[in-house]
Amino acid sequence: MCDKKHLRFTSNSPDDTLAIARALGEALRPGDVVGLTGDLGAGKTLFCKGVGEALGIPPDRILSPTFTIVTEHAAPIPLTHIDVYRLSGAREADEIGMRELLSGDGVCMVEWAEKITELLPTDCIQVKFIILGDDRREIAVAAQDLPRFDDFRARSQRFQLV
Ligand code: ADP
Ligand code: MG
Repeated sequence: MCDKKHLRFTSNSPDDTLAIARALGEALRPGDVVGLTGDLGAGKTLFCKGVGEALGIPPDRILSPTFTIVTEHAAPIPLTHIDVYRLSGAREADEIGMRELLSGDGVCMVEWAEKITELLPTDCIQVKFIILGDDRREIAVAAQDLPRFDDFRARSQRFQLV
């Protein structure tokens, strides 16, 4: 296990969530894995849109991969968008090649990451959503204590809880 730095945010709208996601997206590098956790409708797919935007992928290309499980987006830093909701767990994910997907060249975003915890790298960036109300969400981000995440913290300051 590696020590991670924890940040907590309040999002009062879909636009807030997109802004937080774009700020994180700008800090991501090839090989990063982001695990997203939270109930249906919490904002995981929307967050992936924001990250994708930061990587140069048009937001309308990022759709929920619940039925396809994996969508790959070409970009200077490619984005692999995964949704493991329909998988039974880590074993089934392993059987369909999740380890290879998670160790790809680009950024990898995994919705319902808690279903495949055993397969995630220890330095996985964790994003947890809690639905507080119609348009309000708490978003908790845990990431390795690296300088590039200091930049993320600075860019997302106005949404942070202290
Ligand atoms: P998930 O992938 O977690 O199931 P989605 O991102 O597909 O969730 O959907 C989130 C839904 O909640 C969208 O319809 C979005 O407009 C709505 N929403 C309302 N407020 C927020 C918010 N603050 N952050 C994210 N989504 C929000
Ligand atoms: Mg989703």
